[in-house]
Formats: sequence, structure tokens, C-alpha cells
Amino acid sequence: MSDLTERVAEFLAAHDPTTTDRWEFLRARFDAGLARINWPVGLGGLGLDPGEQGAVDAAFVAAGAPDNRPALGVIGLGMAAPTILRHGDEDQKRRWMRPLWTGEEIWCQLFSEPGSGSDLASLSTRAVPDGDEWVVNGQKVWTSLAHLARWAILVTRTDPAVPKHQGLTYFVLDMTAPGVEVRPLRQLTGESEFNEVFLTDVRIPDSQRLGAVGEGWAVSQTTLMSERVSIGGGRIPRGGMLEPLIRTWRDRPELRTAGLHDQLLELWVEAESARLASTRLKQQIAAGRPGPEGSAAKLAYADLNQRITALELQVLAGDGLRYEDSAGHRYLRARANSIEGGTSEILRNIVAERVLGLPGEIRTDKDVPWKDLPR
Ligand SMILES: Cc1cc2nc3c(=O)[nH]c(=O)nc-3n(C[C@H](O)[C@H](O)[C@H](O)COP(=O)(O)OP(=O)(O)OC[C@H]3O[C@@H](n4cnc5c(N)ncnc54)[C@H](O)[C@@H]3O)c2cc1C
Repeated sequence: MSDLTERVAEFLAAHDPTTTDRWEFLRARFDAGLARINWPVGLGGLGLDPGEQGAVDAAFVAAGAPDNRPALGVIGLGMAAPTILRHGDEDQKRRWMRPLWTGEEIWCQLFSEPGSGSDLASLSTRAVPDGDEWVVNGQKVWTSLAHLARWAILVTRTDPAVPKHQGLTYFVLDMTAPGVEVRPLRQLTGESEFNEVFLTDVRIPDSQRLGAVGEGWAVSQTTLMSERVSIGGGRIPRGGMLEPLIRTWRDRPELRTAGLHDQLLELWVEAESARLASTRLKQQIAAGRPGPEGSAAKLAYADLNQRITALELQVLAGDGLRYEDSAGHRYLRARANSIEGGTSEILRNIVAERVLGLPGEIRTDKDVPWKDLPR
């Protein structure tokens, strides 16, 4: 038995998942360093290579351990955690990491604005210093989970007189602070996963700043590169995305054709390649080195998921559109995959410039003070 396997077995013997309170169990798992084994000691990890995390997670699942609400924790786990671990001070890490990992505190991401999505560095939300606090005013949009979140990662403009990438500062915002207003938006699927968020004279203590004043762009790069890997790499278990379509193939022999068989196999091979590439990327990010290659993983995931869900709908024809059937929902939700977390056009630019070294887009506004840019 390896040291790690033994550690997990000892933990499970001491904290019976069937009788221990959910939050107590998850807090104890974090304190034992078994949340993410590559995280630092004292912060949910053991400072080990992330390669064995899958085996640790599998042992907990097999023992019937509670999960940490990964669907609700998607922004906290995938984006806030790597950013806090890389740019936060010790007090910040200790305050935020445990309830983030256990799922007791949900996180959202206040980046996009009505006029600043792909061109995130052009954002307008202002933060002005006032003693040891900052006063924030502005509007954000498409904020997934804002209606459930306790904390937000937030990028603001703190110096309008310098070029757009230089005048940004990154904060953690308490979503329960006075002046934060969350209004739901209805999306294509009929659900309201995301929101508009209005910030009016919201006060943020300077102790909730991540990174130096004016260094918000560099900090947000850690978040964005982590986001792409977590969207692109997080949902591709072996054959995972194809599972509903494969189930249809098994359960509905009358729908089978030779052509469909071929299409399924081709998609499976592509999904496998994407999964294997993303496994490597996830290890790179776990080691604190998110790279622009994550953009390719996210591109592949979005394209693949859209093709898979379109084929599923085509195969099921009218049945796929039934209200109680989720094929139609999967198809509609997949439309967002090539927009959320960076559009496919932008990700192709990143791969071209930063991975392949092709000539960059012409950027005439790069050295112009933000306040002088046309809006
Ligand atoms: C389901 C969903 C959830 C989201 N959740 C969040 C969230 O939680 N937090 C958050 O901050 N944001 C969130 N977003 C917003 C998302 O990040 C933005 O929609 C995205 O970055 C695109 O920005 P935009 O909508 O302003 O489009 P624009 O930037 O206006 O782009 C419009 C089109 O022009 C193209 N384009 C723009 N510039 C270029 C260029 N230089 N070269 C080539 N093509 C270009 C784009 O690719 C796109 O096709 C979410 C979006 C969706 C759909």
C-alpha cells in the first residue's frame, strides 16, 4: 500500500462518511491535506505531484464520501483557487481556501462588462482608493452563479491615465456588501445561470486586493488560463461527452446506421485525444504553470460538444425535442461553449500568437491612455 493510499484509508476509518456530518467530513478532509494533494501543506494539500489525485478522489467516491458540490464550485475551484494560491498572501489563502474547496462558499467571476468581453482590458468599472478601502462603481454582465455566490473575483480600473492593460487592479469582493445588486438574465435554455451585477459605491478593504495595484492584468491571466483548462479539460472523462449518444445507440437499435457508427467512432477518437491532451494541461496547471495551450483544449472541447449534441439531436429527430428529454437542452446549452470563457475566435488568436508564434493582431490602442480611447 502506498503512503497516500494508507493515509486515505486511515482518514476514512477515522471519519466514517456514512455517519459524519457532510461539512465536518469535508473540512477534515481539507485539513488532512487530502483535498488537492498538490496544494501546499496546511492549505488542503500535501505538496505532492498531482498525478495521484484521481486515485484519491476515486477512493473517496468508492467509500460513499460527500462531494464538495463541484457544479456550484466551478468558478471557485477552477478559477479563484489557482489565482488565490498564486497571487494571494498567507492570510488570504487561509481565509478563503477551505470554505471554497468544501463548497460552503460559492464564488463568481466579475470580469465581463456590457462593453468589454473579448477586449477585457478595456473595462470601465472604477475602483478609487479611500483610506485603507476602495470604492467601486460599475456594471458587470453574464456573471454565472452571482445569485448564489458569497465571494467574487473582480477586475477594476484604478488608473485611467495609463494604457488599458496597465491601469487594472484585481480584488476579491464580498457579494453581501452594501451596493452589490444582482439581477438574473434569462438564457437560451430558459434557465437563469447568469446575471447582471451592478456595483454602486461598494467598499472593498485593501486587504482583499490580490496582487499589486496596477497589476490586475497579470493576475487575471492566471484566472483566464485556468478557466480555459477547467472548461476545456474538466468535463472529458473517457468517452464522457459521448455517453448520452452512445446510450441512444445501445438502447434504440432502430436508429442505427452504418454512417452513424462511423461518426460515433470518429467523435470518440477525437474526445479521447482531447481528454489525453487536457490531462497533461491539468497537471501543468496544478503545478502552478497555466499556459496558453489551454486555449486549444477549450477550443477542442467547445467544437466537439457542439458536434456531438447536434448529432444526438439529428439522430433522435422529433424525440430529441421533447420537453422532458434533455437532448434538446444539451444542444442549446452547447451553443454557449464557444462563447463562455473566451470566444473561439479569440482563442484561435491566442494559439496563433502565443503557441505557434505567428504575427500578432495589429493593436493600435496598446500605448494609448485608457481615458483617451474612443468609447
Ligand atoms: C454561458 C455564459 C457564461 C458566462 N459566464 C461569465 C462569468 O461568470 N463571468 C464573466 O465575467 N463573464 C462570463 N461570460 C461572458 C463571456 O466571457 C463573454 O461573453 C465572452 O468573453 C465574449 O465577450 P462578448 O460577449 O463581449 O463578445 P464580443 O467581445 O463583443 O465579441 C463578439 C464577437 O466578435 C468576435 N471578436 C471580438 N474581438 C475579436 C478579435 N480581435 N478577433 C476576432 N474576433 C473577435 C468574438 O469572438 C465574438 O464572436 C459568460 C458567457 C456565457 C455565454
